[in-house]
Amino acid sequence: MSLAEAFVDTNERISLASNAQFPSVFSYEECDSCGLVVNDIRLVRVKEQCPNCGATGPRSLYPDVVSMTLLKAIGHFYRGAHVASERQIMRLQSAVEDLTGKRLGARALRGVASQLRRVYTRHGGSQQGYEKLVEHTCNMLGVDDGSALQKIIPKLVFFTDAQPEHITVLLHTCTLVEHLL
Ligand SMILES: [Zn+2]
Repeated sequence: MSLAEAFVDTNERISLASNAQFPSVFSYEECDSCGLVVNDIRLVRVKEQCPNCGATGPRSLYPDVVSMTLLKAIGHFYRGAHVASERQIMRLQSAVEDLTGKRLGARALRGVASQLRRVYTRHGGSQQGYEKLVEHTCNMLGVDDGSALQKIIPKLVFFTDAQPEHITVLLHTCTLVEHLL
């Protein structure tokens, strides 16, 4: 799976990342004595006994402030990555439409780009490889005249909607996992 494929946006993911409350819904209390982590609001009270070890006293917030900050950052950059990806695919849609008069959906266009990349990987940048690319592009876009495709083929073959923000999300997530374990 490529990095771009790992970050295929879903409405659920976007909506979660856009929800400013999402880090706080993961808030639990951690017993400082035995390490039990529970989602029980009563344990906010210092005198309340831990259901596991019976200890009283202040509890720690779990995840802690560092984790919360990382979760917020993950949401922030995930939204940014989504917006940048959308812009990128729209630019490619416009370029294909200008050339062929056809407006492909984002999913279909990603599919075309992915197939052409496979053709390029298999046949390389040789003359024969380029002819294969023209042939496939004509078939997939329903175009008769391959000579008009010179401009669009490199854009399709090298298209990726993986954004720098995706890398940032990945690094923040690794940092968060490392911090939690
Ligand atoms: Zn305890």
